[in-house]
Amino acid sequence: MAERLFGTNGVRGVINKDMNVQLAMDLGKAIGTFMGGRVAIGNDSRTSATMIKSAVSAGVMCAGAEVLDLGLVPTPVVQHYVKNNGLSGGVMITASHNPPEFNGIKCVDADGTEMPRSKEEEIERLYFTKSFSSMDWRGVGGLRQASGAVDDYLASVKRLVDADAIRGAGLTVVLDCANGAGAVSTPKLLDDLNVRAITLNCNPQGTFPGHPSEPVESHLRDLIAMVKDTGADMGIAHDGDADRTIFVDDKGRYMYGDKSLAITAEAMVRENNGGIVVTPVSSSMAVEDVVRRAGGEIEYTRVGAPVVARRMIEVGAVFGGEENGGLIFPKHQYCRDGAMTVAKMLEIVAADGPLSKLVDRIPQYCQDKRKMECPDERKERVLSALVKYYASQRVDTTDGVKICYDDGWTLVRPSGTEPLFRVYSEARTPEDARKRSDDCEKVLGDLIG
Ligand code: MG
Repeated sequence: MAERLFGTNGVRGVINKDMNVQLAMDLGKAIGTFMGGRVAIGNDSRTSATMIKSAVSAGVMCAGAEVLDLGLVPTPVVQHYVKNNGLSGGVMITASHNPPEFNGIKCVDADGTEMPRSKEEEIERLYFTKSFSSMDWRGVGGLRQASGAVDDYLASVKRLVDADAIRGAGLTVVLDCANGAGAVSTPKLLDDLNVRAITLNCNPQGTFPGHPSEPVESHLRDLIAMVKDTGADMGIAHDGDADRTIFVDDKGRYMYGDKSLAITAEAMVRENNGGIVVTPVSSSMAVEDVVRRAGGEIEYTRVGAPVVARRMIEVGAVFGGEENGGLIFPKHQYCRDGAMTVAKMLEIVAADGPLSKLVDRIPQYCQDKRKMECPDERKERVLSALVKYYASQRVDTTDGVKICYDDGWTLVRPSGTEPLFRVYSEARTPEDARKRSDDCEKVLGDLIG
């Protein structure tokens, strides 16, 4: 197998250990050689942002491409800028939700989507074989600062929602940007929509002093408390590069990403009088339930936002997304879109709130998650045997093996990095979810045996 550089979310590593200026510059050369033309580059708020961005930019210019530096911006702003300005591609310097000592390099395709694996492989080949274009003095590229990217992005977000209805609703929110890139865009969006915003961690700071940048419940204690204290209509939290959004309802309840995914999916299907919603096989059955309730159809894919986005394009979906708060609105762009998610939720709550009522209307499911060790070389054989074992039941093999029940499922997925299976079950009660995992674990145990 060819050597691999890009993981599921670009190239990531700890600064000056596995992510350094040499790697960034050589990768920049490979990217510039592959993309050519004009390349946009943006970064999140990490302390190493300028260092890594400068190295990548130097490499891109060395290969003869022009660099447009968008500065500190959310990932979806780079994607929007690339698509709407006819660029050959883009690069985002971010490690998303990873700790501050990490940084990463992620490529954007000319159509604004996350770069498909086939093109990443081509860039990897250029990188590992050092087949870079290296221009003479007449051919090297230049760099200029591009302004207006955030304003263009927000204008386009606002065009896709009923801005007047939001402005008239007199909403108050508490916003937590995790000291990340969302701080340059979402406060402005809220201001433009006449939403009163109480802000937390909305000063970009590369050490993430407020809390780690993954928007899980344990990191959002201040946000939850502030929503309760102020009686706000909702809490809003972004991850470090603001492609994802997680909500807290007006009762101060942390909403797992399946809830906002389901609420938004139902609204999008109603708005379009039907249509297809795309989500990975690991998503809660609650999403399927509400999509069907609204007269739509559900389409399952392998886990991963780029896979969801590609499938959405293929089937002409009205909406798609993942449970981690990464929602995709095809009328805007085929990528996870933090500010678009905020605007849409404000519109939904303005029309149909409060948010707690919408949450309580979503069917309740309980999940059980566990791991089971299995040597890598046995994984494939065990999975085929598992499909045979459950032959009398509906089984989905889109990603791992999903055993489907009327009121839930059990999903067995091999880890890509460790010798183990992840076993997830969903059911109406915690006892049933546990029992499903127990049963499956027993079968797996025999098959691994
Ligand atoms: Mg992110």
